[in-house]
Amino acid sequence: MYKIVSIPGDGIGPEVVAGAVAVLQQLSKKHGFELVIEEHPFGGASYDLHGEMLTDATLEACRNCDAVLLGAVGGPKWESLPHEHKPEAALLKIRKELGLFANLRPAKVYDALIDASSLKADVVRGTDFLVFRELTGGIYFGQPRGYDDNRGWNTMVYERYEVERIARLAFEAARKRDGKVISIDKANVLEVSQFWRNVVHEVHKDFADVVLSDMYVDNAAMQIVRNPKQFDVIVTSNLFGDILSDIAGMITGSLGMLPSASIGTKYALYEPIHGSAPDIAGQNKANPIATIASVAMMFEHSFGLPEIAREIYKAIEDTLAQGLRTADIASPEETALSTTDMTAAIVRQLGA
Ligand code: NAD
Repeated sequence: MYKIVSIPGDGIGPEVVAGAVAVLQQLSKKHGFELVIEEHPFGGASYDLHGEMLTDATLEACRNCDAVLLGAVGGPKWESLPHEHKPEAALLKIRKELGLFANLRPAKVYDALIDASSLKADVVRGTDFLVFRELTGGIYFGQPRGYDDNRGWNTMVYERYEVERIARLAFEAARKRDGKVISIDKANVLEVSQFWRNVVHEVHKDFADVVLSDMYVDNAAMQIVRNPKQFDVIVTSNLFGDILSDIAGMITGSLGMLPSASIGTKYALYEPIHGSAPDIAGQNKANPIATIASVAMMFEHSFGLPEIAREIYKAIEDTLAQGLRTADIASPEETALSTTDMTAAIVRQLGA
C-alpha cells in the first residue's frame, strides 16, 4: 500500500496533478497495489481557505505518508502579500520542515523532442544526466546575512554532515546509472568549496566502484551546453545547483517536461520544476508530462521500483513518438492536445 499526499496548489497545479493521479490510478489497477491518495491545500489555495500558505494539518499529513506530490504554488493574486506569507516562503518552509536536503533534477532529452532544444540535435541527442543540488544549506541559509546602506553580506557555510549525506546519495544513484559522479565547486577561490571537495573525496572511499571527478562551476556551465552527454551524475551546492539545474533543464526543451524530487532522510516530495503558469491556468492547455515524470521519480526513489519508473518514461516516450503534443511542445503546424487528452494518451499507453 502506498499513501500519497497530493497537493494540487495553484494555477495549473490542479490540472497537472490530476494527470499524475490518473497515471497512479492506472498503475495501481495494472500492478494490483493499493493506493491511498489524500488531497491537501497549500500555497494560495490554502491561504484563501485558512489564511496561511502552509497549515499544520497539511504539514502533518506530509509527515504521515510515503510520498508527497505537489503541483505548483503562487500567482498574481498572492504576490502583494508580505514576504513571510508569500508562496516562496511556504515552499522553503515545507522543505525545511520535512528535512528535504537534496533536490534531484534529471536532464533527459527525448528523441521525439530533439528539435525543441535550443542546442543542435547532435549536441543534445542521448543526453541523460541527474543533478543533485544541496537544498537546505549553503549561502541561502548561512548566517550572518543582511545589508545596510553601505554593504550587503551573506555567508556560505557547509557542515561536514551536510556534504556527506548528499555525496552519499549521489554516489548511490551513480551506482544504478553509468557509475560516474562529477562534483562541482569553486575550490580555486572559495575555502568552503575546498572543504566540500575534501569531504566528497572522503565519502568516495566507500564507493570505489564509482568514478569521481571535480569540475569548477564556471567550466561546468560551459560544459553543460558544449557537451552535455559527458555527464552522468552531478553533485553540487545549493547556489551552484540552483543555476546549473536550470541550464541543464533548458537544454532539454520545454519547462513542461521537467520533473524533480526533493528528498531527505525520512520524507520526499515530487513536483514539476515549472510554476503555476497563471497565463494558461484553467484552460486545459498545460503539459502534464513534468508532473507525470515526477511520479516516475517517486517510484524510483521512494518506492524502490525503478521498473515502474521505466514503464512511465516509456509510456511518455511512446506517446511523444506518435507525434502527440501539448501546445508548449507542438510546432506551429501540429495540432495541440489538451491536458486531459495528453493524460489519457499516456494512460492508454501504460496499458491495463
Ligand atoms: P511558470 O513556470 O509558471 O511559467 C513560465 C512559462 O512557462 C509560462 O508561459 C507558462 O505558461 C509556461 N509553462 C509552465 N509550465 C507549463 C506547462 N506544464 N505546460 C505548458 N506551459 C507551461 O513561471 P512564472 O510565470 O515565472 O511563475 C508563475 C507563478 O508560479 C509565480 O507566482 C511563481 O512564483 C510561481 N512558481 C512556483 C513554483 C513552484 O511551485 N515550485 C516554481 C516557479 C514559479
